[in-house]
Amino acid sequence: MSEVLALASELIRRRSVTPADEGCQSLIAARLQAAGFDCERLRFAEVDNLWATHGSGAPVLVLLGHTDVVPSGPVEAWASDPFEPAIRDGVLYGRGAADMKGSVAAFVVALEQFVAAHPGHAGTVALLLTSDEEGDAIDGVRRVAEVFRGRGQSIDWCITGEPSSTRKLGDLLRVGRRGTLSATLTVKGVQGHVAYPDKARNPIHQALPALAELAGRSWDGGYETFPPTSLQISNFNAGTGANNVIPGEARILFNLRYNPHWTAVRLEQETGAVLDRHGLEYDLHWHRGGEPFYTPEGRLRIVAREVLGEFAGAVPEESTAGGTSDARFIAPLGAQCIEVGPVNASIHKVDENVSVSELEALPALYRRLLERLLLE
Ligand SMILES: [Zn+2]
Repeated sequence: MSEVLALASELIRRRSVTPADEGCQSLIAARLQAAGFDCERLRFAEVDNLWATHGSGAPVLVLLGHTDVVPSGPVEAWASDPFEPAIRDGVLYGRGAADMKGSVAAFVVALEQFVAAHPGHAGTVALLLTSDEEGDAIDGVRRVAEVFRGRGQSIDWCITGEPSSTRKLGDLLRVGRRGTLSATLTVKGVQGHVAYPDKARNPIHQALPALAELAGRSWDGGYETFPPTSLQISNFNAGTGANNVIPGEARILFNLRYNPHWTAVRLEQETGAVLDRHGLEYDLHWHRGGEPFYTPEGRLRIVAREVLGEFAGAVPEESTAGGTSDARFIAPLGAQCIEVGPVNASIHKVDENVSVSELEALPALYRRLLERLLLE
C-alpha cells in the first residue's frame, strides 16, 4: 500500500466529525516533527489547529487543509462503514476521502519528500490544519489568521487542498471564491382578524414588495471570471396556522453570494435602504461568512497552471465558482491563494470516494508546486 493511501486510510478511521479532530493532527504533527518541522498547536474552544513550518523567512508558502469532516448521514445508506476505509475497483471509499483527508495525507507525504530532498530550500514551507472548516468556522482558520495578524506573520502563497477538480485531477484551478453574507429579517406588523384588516398591519403584505425587489435585483454583471452577485431567500415563516388571523410578524432568512464588486458593509447598506424605502418596520441581523477573494494573474497562477497542465494533460479551467473555503481568511493577510485538490463529485454525499490512482498522484503534484515555487 502506498504511503499516501495508508495515511489517508488512517485519517478516515478517525471519526473527526466537525469540530472534532480525534487525533488526526497529533498523528500528522509527530510525522512532520520527525521530518524536521516546528509544530505549534493552537487550540481555541473545541477546535484544534496545527501550524507546522520548515525553513525561515520569505517567501512563505502555506498548504492549507482541514481534518474535520461532515457527518456521515444514515450509515445504512452507505455501501460500507463511512469510517472504515474500503477500496473497491480502484476507488477509496470513506467520509473525508475527497474532502479532504486525501489531500491532507498528500500534503504530508509531499512535505516530507520535499524537505528530505531539499533541506536547504529557500523561504518557509508550512502546513496549516484546522478541525473547524465544515462547522461554524469561528475558532479555526479565522482565529488563526487573527493570531498571524498580531504576530506580523506574512504569507505569500497559499494552496488549499479543497477538492476542486471536476472530472479528473488537475482539470480545474480555483483562483477565487465569492463572499457569503447571511441575514435574518423580522418584519413587524400588528396581529388582527382577517375580517378587520384596517385594525391590523399584515407583515407578509408589507414584506413581499421589498423582498420581490431584492430577489429580482440585478446586483452586477459579474466580475472577471466571477458569476453575478445573487440574493436567495431560503426561509419565509409567518402565520399562526389559522386562516382568519393576520400574523404579528414575518421572519425571513436570506443569503447573498457576492463577487469583489461588493463588500459585506456595502451590501448591508444597500439592503437596508431597500427595506427602508418600502417603509417596513423591521429587525435585521447579519452574519458575515467571509469576503470574496481573488488571485489575479501572477507567479502562483502561472506555476499552478503549468503544473496542473502537466498532470491533467491539458490546460486547466480557471474558476471562481463554488461555495466558500478557509482561503477567505488567509487572502486578507495579503496572500495569493489557489485551490488544488481531487475530484469533488462525491463530497458531503454517501459513499464519498476518491480514485486511488489520483490520490497516489497527488503528493507528486503538490511536491512539484513546492519545487517550482521555492527552488526556482
Ligand atoms: Zn473541505
